[in-house]
Amino acid sequence: MKLFSLTAHEILDLLKAKKVKAEDVVSSVKERIDSVETRVHAYARVFETREIASEGNENLFPIPIAVKDNICIKDNETTCASKILKGFKPPYDATVIAKLKGAGAVFTGNANMDEFAFGSSCETSCFGPTRNPWDLERVPGGSSGGSAAAVAADETIWAIGSDTGGSIRQPAALCGVVGLKPTYGLVSRYGLIAFASSLDQIGPITKDVRDSALLLNIIGGYDENDSTSVDTPAKDYTKSLISDIKGIKIGIPKEYFIEGIDPEVGLSVKAAIEQLRSLGAIVKEVSLPHTEYAVATYYITATAEASSNLARFDGVQYGLRSIPKEQRKNPIVDMYEETRNQGFGLEAKRRIMLGTYALSSGYYDAYYLRALKVRTLIKQDLDKVFGDFDAIVTPTSPTTAFKIGERMDDPVSMYLSDIYTIPANLSGIPAISIPCGFSKNNLPIGLQIMAKAFNEEMIFKIAYTYEQNTGWHKKRAGI
Ligand code: GLN
Repeated sequence: MKLFSLTAHEILDLLKAKKVKAEDVVSSVKERIDSVETRVHAYARVFETREIASEGNENLFPIPIAVKDNICIKDNETTCASKILKGFKPPYDATVIAKLKGAGAVFTGNANMDEFAFGSSCETSCFGPTRNPWDLERVPGGSSGGSAAAVAADETIWAIGSDTGGSIRQPAALCGVVGLKPTYGLVSRYGLIAFASSLDQIGPITKDVRDSALLLNIIGGYDENDSTSVDTPAKDYTKSLISDIKGIKIGIPKEYFIEGIDPEVGLSVKAAIEQLRSLGAIVKEVSLPHTEYAVATYYITATAEASSNLARFDGVQYGLRSIPKEQRKNPIVDMYEETRNQGFGLEAKRRIMLGTYALSSGYYDAYYLRALKVRTLIKQDLDKVFGDFDAIVTPTSPTTAFKIGERMDDPVSMYLSDIYTIPANLSGIPAISIPCGFSKNNLPIGLQIMAKAFNEEMIFKIAYTYEQNTGWHKKRAGI
């Protein structure tokens, strides 16, 4: 058994029993990166030096971890896979990074992503696309595609990503790994380069559910540096890893099994739901009537917030500065325009324009304000179901991994990739994606489990029970 193929909890057991050393694990992962990275391209940059600060300390987690390229590591180039941040070295650590350093984590590199986390395929990165380890002609999903592909290809033991509309769960589903978007406010966003501040959340991407709970234990918790961080007592999520869901009430939203869903995905998810029923859950159909407005609501809210967050990248403080050869207006305006024109990719420009339009006077009420109202209706639909049910189970993505290039010229079909994941962001609730089967051509399929805000325990319990009784997570990409 190669060390790189193990989960973090398996490695921790071996470390405690003194059967392996942290440096053996780190070099095993490094060798793996050396042998497959040129084919997968999961990383924006691989770190050459990997400090192991914790040899011999049993309370620490000297586990290799990949970090999405939008989470600040002090003095380490962090670019959101955008040319505009080339050369930007943050002067501080994100809170999750400080916590990971405190836990003895060993950083493998910055995982590739869609530029500024705009996308569902990891193709808009200025470093070029990441490939799906299950089929190198296909996308890994996005925007945390690099993090998910790195875990699926064993180029790291675990990873962190960010999820604004599905960017942890959708790539986890397409790569056959476990991805959790925690409740909004549970994990600090301090040092996460903002896309849409009211939706963004950092979370774990792991090989199994136990690792997801372990990593959430490390990165979660109150942070006074994030004004949206919620001060709740710390929990040990591994306590919820109990294989028993008898009597747990699960709702299945009828609006989620609609036209457009790949029949193989529908069948696998339905089989998973039957399995949950046979394990003792009480399963009933429910309705989330405003589901059809979720994607439109998200793309107004998210682009509005993104256009405002991205205004700070103007050539003055961060990364790239570009000055045109000839003066066009005045030197400052020329510099702003040239920097933003050269620095942002096509999708980033599209989003800045859409968001600026939705916020402009005359359109604000018709688009942005209306989207905020519909967002409340979508949240109320979910609150109502959670009045009677412990969890909601759905597919994570309507399709399996699609071909590289297939949706690049069709933004709407790309945007529809997140139809099932967006409602959790709009309403702030936690949601996980776990593997629940494979298509005929051996592509992974994901199952999404959502619960009430701050009820990650319920999610872990259901996910763990399903995983222990099925074992889809054990199948590895044969790269
Ligand atoms: N795919 C969605 C988008 O393009 C979600 C991205 C994300 O969660 N960061 O906006």
